[in-house]
Parts: sequence; C-alpha cells; structure tokens
Amino acid sequence: TISMAVIDRMGHIAVGTSTNGATFKIPGRVGDGPIAGSSAYADTEVGACGATGDGDIMMRFLPCYQVVESMRLGMEPKRAAEDAISRIAWKYPDFVGAIFAVNKNGVHAGACHGWTFQYSVRSPDMEDVKVYTVVPETPTP
Ligand code: ASP
Repeated sequence: TISMAVIDRMGHIAVGTSTNGATFKIPGRVGDGPIAGSSAYADTEVGACGATGDGDIMMRFLPCYQVVESMRLGMEPKRAAEDAISRIAWKYPDFVGAIFAVNKNGVHAGACHGWTFQYSVRSPDMEDVKVYTVVPETPTP
C-alpha cells in the first residue's frame, strides 16, 4: 500500500491511497482502499490521514476519518493517530495496521499495531526525504 498526503503552497491538502490488496484476497474483494475515511481522508481546514494494514478490519472503523475529526477537535496528530489505532485494537487485539496523520501546519505522526511502521516526509525546507519509524504501543482504550 502506498498512501500519500500533500500540502501545497496555498495550503490545500490532498491524500490518496493505492494498494494491491490483501494477500490471498478473494476475487472481487474491494478492500479499504477506495472507502473514503478508511484508507485515506483529508480536509484542508484540518489535515490528512492515510492507512495501511488489515483493510477488512480497518474499514469498519473509518480510522482516517476518525483521525481528521479528532484533529479538528484539537487533538495533536500523534494522539489522534494513537486513539484511532487503539479503537481498532480494543476490538481486534490481533489486527495489524498503521496510520499516519498530518495537520495543516505540517505536524505529523504515526501509530501502529502489530507491526513496526515506517513513513517518510519531505518538505521544501528539507534537503532529502526523512524516514520515521513508529513502534507499536499497547492499546489504551
Ligand atoms: N489495506 C490494504 C488492504 O486491506 C492492504 C495493505 O495496506 O497492504 O487491501
């Protein structure tokens, strides 16, 4: 899965997620990729979120919509990402997945469950891409 959020010079925010789907998926499986709010969500007034992992579970929670709405209410990206992941992990302790969150100011964070997750960031004031590693935390409901 590749999920990417972009903030342009004018402050417009967009996000998209593409995936080849789940391993051994059944023919015709849609997955979480095309479901708005599940694998991706953005609002220029707030920020963006992208997700990867077990889409058949994650799509039941719309975690990216959750993250953006939490940030709208004032949560920092890190807390919003951890909150969305912990809501899923509370119901599905064995689920594997991760999300990144970025707010309209470019503050970003990731959260994951069941695996270690990496995401990369590039902005005009950076000379190169920087890779961030996110370690899973025990869910706190
Ligand atoms: N979320 C994707 C899916 O379930 C898989 C992935 O993120 O690798 O289709």
